[in-house]
Amino acid sequence: MKPDQILNEADRCVKCGLCLPHCPTYRLTRDENDSPRGRIALIQALVGGCVDSPALHNHLDQCLSCLACQSACPSGVRYGPLIDAVRATQPQHRSAGKRLLYRLLTRVPYFPGIRPAARAYRRSPVRQLLRRISGSAFRRLDDLLPEYNLPTQEWRETYAPRSLPSRGRVGLFTGCIGRLTDQPALVAAIQALTAMGLEVVVPHNQVCCGALHLHNGLPETAAKYAETNCRQFNGLALQAIIYVASGCGVQLLDYPRLGAQLEPRVTDICSFLTQSRLLGPESFTPLAKRVLLHIPCTQRTAPGGSDDVLSLLKLVPRLETRALSETGCCGAAGSYLLSQSAMADRLAQTVIESIGNDVADLLLTSNTGCALQLGANLRRNGIDLQVKHPIELIAQQLAAPLTAARPSSGDPV
Ligand code: SF4
Ligand code: SF4
Repeated sequence: MKPDQILNEADRCVKCGLCLPHCPTYRLTRDENDSPRGRIALIQALVGGCVDSPALHNHLDQCLSCLACQSACPSGVRYGPLIDAVRATQPQHRSAGKRLLYRLLTRVPYFPGIRPAARAYRRSPVRQLLRRISGSAFRRLDDLLPEYNLPTQEWRETYAPRSLPSRGRVGLFTGCIGRLTDQPALVAAIQALTAMGLEVVVPHNQVCCGALHLHNGLPETAAKYAETNCRQFNGLALQAIIYVASGCGVQLLDYPRLGAQLEPRVTDICSFLTQSRLLGPESFTPLAKRVLLHIPCTQRTAPGGSDDVLSLLKLVPRLETRALSETGCCGAAGSYLLSQSAMADRLAQTVIESIGNDVADLLLTSNTGCALQLGANLRRNGIDLQVKHPIELIAQQLAAPLTAARPSSGDPV
């Protein structure tokens, strides 16, 4: 968007304020500058050349891009593209340092050998030493490391169906950070899909979805990533491209905004399984447990939303599921949990409080960043509650003949 297009979009806001109760940052601070309406006014002042101050940028930077306001707006203000476009005009978002950081975060997970390295690091004394001598930013990043052992094997390009009849082939989008931290969920997705008779293709040269860049002022890098992913997935005769992290999913669905188009339909793993209608209660071994379900902001806006995951979990006999009350964004929001750590932790706390004294066996969430953020904050609060992706539980409970070949977390994927 050019400055006049930004102003035109911002002018569509009639300042009714109906979005305010939906905005997580406004709910915390009660400061109009931290509300969607306030931020739109700040954007008008900034792009119109009337005001430019560190305080103004701080209020804009504290926006999570969660889009709760966009869904609530009766005037149809496209807040997401608006805030993305404003960030792309601001030099501080496009500095060489930021480009390097995002490059590292989104490229390193694809390096061969990164998984053994991450696994060795997790257990090594070097980790303790680094935590002692480094600053709080490093410790915060380190705190996000999941507790489980990362498998050391690399991804294969295809996984054959494990049951008959054969039902075609699907692609799996791994994500960048998720490729490391969401690995149990990705393995579980492969297990569930191949058990249902599907061939799963994991293109080796797929890259980050581009969300981190798009929402942080670097749309041209996001567009480049979108183009690469289209080249990797299009033309493979796939029925669908499956994602496990809802944050990546909404970005893949938004590729037309970047001038790219994935040919197969893009769908969430739980939505795909629910809508396949191939699974019923008889497909699962019963599980007498109680789980809490966190719904990420990105899952609320994706097709199928939270309904498909709830329907899928309801198929598991004796499983009791409670969806957490709507608390708004948990503060993960891409790199927000690192760049706006104080606000991110306050937001996570509202989710933790919504758990209350509920005694549960697991907390389920469908987004990589939310799982890391909630896991770290649960540990910080001394709450012993494991966080998993719903597909891990689903794959684990798929009835015996389907799960016979299911690997443990240390097995090859
Ligand atoms: S609901 Fe829409 S029109 Fe109303 S203040 Fe919010 S952004 Fe503006
Ligand atoms: S995107 Fe989220 S945090 Fe930003 S103004 Fe809208 S509701 Fe508030």
